[in-house]
Amino acid sequence: MTIVTRFAPSPTGLLHLGHAHAALYAWRRAREAGGRFLLRIEDIDATRCRAEFAQAILDDLAWLGLNWDGAVRRQSSAFADYAAALARLDALGLLYPCFCTRGEIQAEIARAGAAPHGPEGAIYPGLCRARPRAEGRRRIAAGAPHALRLDVAKALAKVGALFWEDEEAGRIAADPASHGDVVLARKDVPTSYHLAVTVDDALQGVTLVTRGEDLFTATHVHRLLQALLGLPVPRYHHHKLLTDASGRRYAKRDRALTLRALREAGRSPAEVRAMAGHS
Ligand code: GLU
Repeated sequence: MTIVTRFAPSPTGLLHLGHAHAALYAWRRAREAGGRFLLRIEDIDATRCRAEFAQAILDDLAWLGLNWDGAVRRQSSAFADYAAALARLDALGLLYPCFCTRGEIQAEIARAGAAPHGPEGAIYPGLCRARPRAEGRRRIAAGAPHALRLDVAKALAKVGALFWEDEEAGRIAADPASHGDVVLARKDVPTSYHLAVTVDDALQGVTLVTRGEDLFTATHVHRLLQALLGLPVPRYHHHKLLTDASGRRYAKRDRALTLRALREAGRSPAEVRAMAGHS
């Protein structure tokens, strides 16, 4: 079976050494296997993403010596694909509109005293879950801003036990309930990270998802969405994040360690590949 991997950065800043590490890892896995390496720009959030950062991603990867197969997929051009997936989940009765503001959610959590926490913070307390559908439709028709959440308990009742194969961690039992009712369409963007990534990996034929271990827990949700949407299940490899000499992860704030800054400081692509752990 051919391996298809991908690198899927968000153009919210310049790529740093941590990104280079992730990109080189995915690229190397595809090239070693004679497979395909794809590039995807995750730009659903128009307020945080910028066209010049998307262009910088292409330029910096090319400078680093990375080549990708086929056209670059841009999530901002794929909203119809996400809408189709949402329609399918809605037809299964698994989505509900959520009108809550952040403040309302926090107030409810404070009122309840204890809030179960998931990988992304406090779990949504379910304020909008039980609302009659007709009332939700009325509020939507009246223009009320709303997100769409997945009723995770209902969704789990439709699928059996789910697993994924992780090259580092082995066979993992998916636990999507740990996230609670995740948002699949945001108030401001008609999709979400979880939905877009799952749909795209399937549509692009990705067979091996490689990404940082910070996204390990997200796979619980992705695995459930694959089961609900009838999508193929890739293998996963969540790798360690590259850290600096003091053990800190690279982040957007590390301006001096962007690929752009290193290049401007006269480093060669080979030196930067070595700094990113791929010599
Ligand atoms: N766009 C995500 C990020 O930049 C990565 C998505 C993924 O690999 O699943 O963190």
